[in-house]
Amino acid sequence: MVFRILIKIKPKHSIKSYAIIVIFFAVLQNQKPLNFITYYFISSQTSEAISKRKELLLKEKYLKATQCEYIYDTILIIQGESANKHHMSVYNYSIDTTPFLNTLSHSSNFYKYDIIAPSNQTRFSVPMMFTDADIHSWYEKYSNSVSLITKLKRCGFQTHWISTQSKTGRHEDAITSIAQEADDVVFLANTALQDEIILQHVQNRDTKLTTKQAYIFHISGSHFRYSSRYKDHKLYNNASTIVQEYDNSIFSTDFLLGEILKSFSKNKKTLFVYFSDHGEVVSPDKAGHGYYPSYKDEFDIPFIMYSGIVNPRLRFNENNQKRLNGESINHILEYVIGITQDKNFSYSDTVFSLTPKTKSIIKS
Ligand SMILES: [Zn+2]
Repeated sequence: MVFRILIKIKPKHSIKSYAIIVIFFAVLQNQKPLNFITYYFISSQTSEAISKRKELLLKEKYLKATQCEYIYDTILIIQGESANKHHMSVYNYSIDTTPFLNTLSHSSNFYKYDIIAPSNQTRFSVPMMFTDADIHSWYEKYSNSVSLITKLKRCGFQTHWISTQSKTGRHEDAITSIAQEADDVVFLANTALQDEIILQHVQNRDTKLTTKQAYIFHISGSHFRYSSRYKDHKLYNNASTIVQEYDNSIFSTDFLLGEILKSFSKNKKTLFVYFSDHGEVVSPDKAGHGYYPSYKDEFDIPFIMYSGIVNPRLRFNENNQKRLNGESINHILEYVIGITQDKNFSYSDTVFSLTPKTKSIIKS
């Protein structure tokens, strides 16, 4: 019976119908329900890249710190989440969502940059911001490069990765591989995923450490659902719209940034850095990131640096004022910290829209 059906169907399958199936899949591969097939291939490629990286990192394990040039003895990097710069008053939003950064912006050693995220997905963006992985060769360069963390360790920094995000899963594994490069890895799993839990950890740290310290705080920031991202520190006590809830999450992150910097105020040679993995679409009818096709709001992120000391390298972009691409944030930081002289930064308009295979151009 089955055989007869196959015989019957076979002649109807012309080249044209196969072509239609291929086009159909090509168009819908990033839409539900077909996107699970795309995710399967991406996940296995990523797992392979993580395994390759493991071997690379093993070789680093017993390397001794070498003599390095560097300007700072304390580095504070806050890797934000889903922060759209158009919702931050420090980037000219009309509502005062970032009072701490506004005040800090009056300091002479404060810098904010024009930049786009290289991807609208955390798991591709964060590795591009910390390793050599880039838009054109994500898997290969991710597999074959150590992150900024190892580069700092080579220079004698004690490194800390403090996260309020999840440790494992389809979205997290490539980032956890980077986190594990640090000397001290802490996942502050908390049910509400509120970032203020970081402050307890920072306040309880050993302040007598004499070696150079680098902290990376991977926060939950403004990830959906926004109303669960803040608690005590908010702009609207009774947020009634999704935009107000989102703005509350930005306000709460701004408070966190201020408290982190305050906790390290005794250290003068401090570099304080804040950027987001990607932006966010925030409107009553649409909210989130990881859209395909994507929206510009998913790529418009903040990138802010404040230095406790005068450092002319922070003005690296002053002459051309061109919009940067976040794929080279690690290279920018290496240059600003002083461990490299290389100023070859990315000003590309190309980004990943959802996956490394679906690239798009973000116009200025
Ligand atoms: Zn994200």
